[in-house]
Amino acid sequence: MKYYSTNHNTPDVTLELAVTQGLAADRGLFMPERIETLPESFFRDISSMNFQEISFEVAKKFFGEDIPEYTLQKIVFNTLTFDTPLIEVSKDIYSLELFHGPTSAFKDVGARFMARLLSHFLGKEKKMVHVLVATSGDTGSAVANGFLGVPGIKVHVLYPKGKVSDIQEKQFTTLGQNITALEIDGTFDDCQALVKSAFMDEALKSKITITSANSINVARFLPQAFYYFNAWAKLEDKSRKVVFSVPSGNFGNLTAGLFAKRMGLPVSNFIAANNLNDIVFNYLKSGIYSPRPSVSTIANAMDVGDPSNFARILDLYKNDHQAICADITGTTYTDDQIRETLFAVYKSTGYLLDPHGAVGYRALEEELKEGETGIFLETAHPAKFTETVEAIVGNGNVPMPQKLQNFMKGEKLSLEFTSDYASFRAYLNELE
Ligand SMILES: *Cc1c(COP(=O)(O)O)cnc(C)c1O
Repeated sequence: MKYYSTNHNTPDVTLELAVTQGLAADRGLFMPERIETLPESFFRDISSMNFQEISFEVAKKFFGEDIPEYTLQKIVFNTLTFDTPLIEVSKDIYSLELFHGPTSAFKDVGARFMARLLSHFLGKEKKMVHVLVATSGDTGSAVANGFLGVPGIKVHVLYPKGKVSDIQEKQFTTLGQNITALEIDGTFDDCQALVKSAFMDEALKSKITITSANSINVARFLPQAFYYFNAWAKLEDKSRKVVFSVPSGNFGNLTAGLFAKRMGLPVSNFIAANNLNDIVFNYLKSGIYSPRPSVSTIANAMDVGDPSNFARILDLYKNDHQAICADITGTTYTDDQIRETLFAVYKSTGYLLDPHGAVGYRALEEELKEGETGIFLETAHPAKFTETVEAIVGNGNVPMPQKLQNFMKGEKLSLEFTSDYASFRAYLNELE
């Protein structure tokens, strides 16, 4: 299968190139040339299949031409060593819990798949590949854990000193093996600038092989379609209209849902649930897309002012605003509304949302119509945001799962750098 750029200004590429390059040469995002539908028999049998089996069928539609069937099956099965349970929180509203992976956030699915796909492509060469990733918190942990122990790959996580939460820091500084954490005395933007400088450094690139594990990479993006099918499989009553509510930042998750719908998943519509960063909400209302700098909220993984995957949505619908609005509606909530929802749901049902999931839940509570079933994506475990959540539901009410406790026990190891490129370059130049 070939991949084209959303900017339509560069030749189509193979899957291997799309994955190793990440971004197209004309700065567009890669899209698969075809989105194939799954056969009726798949939907008839889906309830008797597990997450791995369902995902393998979906994966074959994208990657089947380019990866031997047995290899692809191994990649899918090794990626999905955990399930995505569907929990009824209140009448007709279900939580799709995507936080059962190693770092307790949905990004585990894409990061683990990408690590294995990259390793497959690079396995043919004998050279070590260095993955550079700048993080403000969650991406670094998902990518580091996704690549942990994968042969032929070393990961270098750059993060801003003192600006990530304790649990986030522990999740990428305690791993050892092929993961190195670089603590930068600066901001997240400084970290990103260092990575960008390395990618523009031709002399460096002639010496070592570097690649990025950015969230726009098709190998991280496409696997996010898997769990929409898994959610559907778990629904007992499949005769009702189904609405997915997606707490959105860069819109990778929601766009993957749109792909699932194109593949035949009977979704009635999607809700783009935003915090105060309401750029897409405004686009849906007005047809005008005006990105602007992000504002900080308590659902901080959604603090995005220019969602990178929006280009994919426009391309998928050929810029037809009306067609987009037929499939996607929007909501936007303040921090106070997020707190209010998180508290109310905890009080009335005992279910503990995280701030991002709370945005998705509230959208269903307000938008769901009679006779519809609503599923919101619970994108992270509440214990990843202990301070914020305990401030809402009370101290001691956010139990930390064993998996996260284990990270906290590890010893932090990091290398300290200034935000000056020269010292970072010297570090890279020593690598093989
Ligand atoms: C990354 C992230 C999001 C936003 O997902 P997008 O695919 O960027 O829209 C939402 N919630 C959490 C917890 C995240 O880490």
